[in-house]
Amino acid sequence: MTLEVEGLRKSFGGVQAVKGVSLRVAAGELLALIGPNGAGKSTCFNMLNGQIRPDGGTVRLNGQDITGLPPRRIWRLGVGRTFQITATFGSMSVLENVQMALLSHRRRLLDLWRPVSREDPAEALALLERVGMAGQAARPCGVLAYGDLKRVELAIALANAPSLLLMDEPTAGMAPAERVALMELTAGIARAGGIAVLFTEHDMDVVFRHADRILVLDRGTPIAEGAPAAVRADPRVREVYLGTGATHDH
Ligand code: ADP
Ligand code: MG
Repeated sequence: MTLEVEGLRKSFGGVQAVKGVSLRVAAGELLALIGPNGAGKSTCFNMLNGQIRPDGGTVRLNGQDITGLPPRRIWRLGVGRTFQITATFGSMSVLENVQMALLSHRRRLLDLWRPVSREDPAEALALLERVGMAGQAARPCGVLAYGDLKRVELAIALANAPSLLLMDEPTAGMAPAERVALMELTAGIARAGGIAVLFTEHDMDVVFRHADRILVLDRGTPIAEGAPAAVRADPRVREVYLGTGATHDH
């Protein structure tokens, strides 16, 4: 099992943001974490990626306990993430951004240093090919359309050869058609490469089309888990969403 989470908990002052979340994601599987605004989704992500230390519970990656490790150690162990606010260097080209990512991945493995300009671009180009961005390799990231930047971000995450990708609202700010395309791309890459994906998403269309399983959180507590059709039909899930009058959050 790529990711195994048991009884994860976190409070902020008097607010119990996450009250005992357990989940598993297998290689090549996409698990969507959904729930109304304030349900605790981002807090869960931040405990998994090391930004926030859990109050309780355990996180295992490929059998190894990574609970409470700092973000950099978790990244080194092969946990990739994409950011809501895209983290690329705007003045550098698309290719250079991916080469940088490959370099830091190799440095993690071999502890050597070489300037980006001396890197063979073949590997970076191959990654850009996978996300459909090879044709724009020479352009500065700063001039790309938002949806294209998200693809570069995915290539950067893949440069780390992750076994797990954490994506907190990866399609935020994108047009509906772009969202579906980005998740379709991500799902194809994850399934072909055996990468486990945990993602949040407020577009239910995207969730129901691309998730293998869905875990629904409400006020820090899991209330339903299962295949998309079963979750969609679950009375408690309907109640949570109807109760708030919304199927999305920001
Ligand atoms: P979601 O991502 O599902 O919208 P969050 O995990 O961001 O939910 O938030 C869950 C709850 O925890 C909310 O009540 C939120 O106000 C609270 N919370 C999140 N982060 C912090 C923080 N750093 N300090 C205090 N409260 C927080
Ligand atoms: Mg959130």
